[in-house]
Amino acid sequence: MSTLVIEGLRASVAGREILTGVDLEVAAGEVHAVMGPNGSGKSTLAHVIAGRHGYDVLGGSVRLDGTELLGMPAWRRAEAGLFLAMQYPTEVPGVSLLDMLTESACTAEGAAVAERMREEAERIGFDEKFLARPVNVDLSGGERKRNEALQLGVLKPVFAVVDELDSGLDVDALRFVGDRIEDATEHDGLGVLAITHSSRVFDHLRPDAVHVFAGGRIQESGGAELAEELEAEGYERWTPALPEPEAAPFTDPFGDPFADLLT
Ligand code: ADP
Ligand code: MG
Repeated sequence: MSTLVIEGLRASVAGREILTGVDLEVAAGEVHAVMGPNGSGKSTLAHVIAGRHGYDVLGGSVRLDGTELLGMPAWRRAEAGLFLAMQYPTEVPGVSLLDMLTESACTAEGAAVAERMREEAERIGFDEKFLARPVNVDLSGGERKRNEALQLGVLKPVFAVVDELDSGLDVDALRFVGDRIEDATEHDGLGVLAITHSSRVFDHLRPDAVHVFAGGRIQESGGAELAEELEAEGYERWTPALPEPEAAPFTDPFGDPFADLLT
């Protein structure tokens, strides 16, 4: 059975440490939610797992079925079975979705990939006209998210990191995309790390475990009830408000022009 094991993961971006020691283990077929406030480093975690450039890994490990992923280029991680559904999927002008997926699936059988793409497109309500067009170019936020789900459905990874699935999706689109990924966990044994700041996504992608992420690490873990608690109370318990800076006494740099009238 597949497992993704993250141990003591630390990473910095632009000289600032964002991940301060992440420990997490996700087994095949499970959905683990990582919930945290904006700016807490959730996308950084997704990018460091996937091998995006621009981050300095300071320590720890990320293993998929015992294979160390850190140090591998992103494409090797994908080859090992890892998939990242991005928070903001990128435009790739000049490369059609069909060409990208045929290459990614490592097959010369473009026709078979095209057929799978059409099936997946129909399943999640993604317009077929996008299949031959350059990846994500001129697509709305919601269409890009459907595109991510389509790629996942075609490539059938072992493990998916899904970053803010619900952003840009209306209720119907969220149902299509969420149900598609949930189905992959049930029928293909897909393991999912669902990164999110809100619990809206859990109506369709049901978490087996919920982790509170703040201060660059997992602070608490629990079941689905923890997501409800977070929705009701917010993240304050894990991110104590910083003390308000003391207001400096106001000093007018130009002085009071009427001061001498008062004397
Ligand atoms: P989240 O996804 O939880 O909202 P991010 O991982 O996107 O948070 O960002 C965490 C912190 O790292 C933020 O303070 C953000 O400004 C900073 N950060 C992210 N990427 C960069 C970058 N490329 N350069 C400088 N700072 C960055
Ligand atoms: Mg983010």
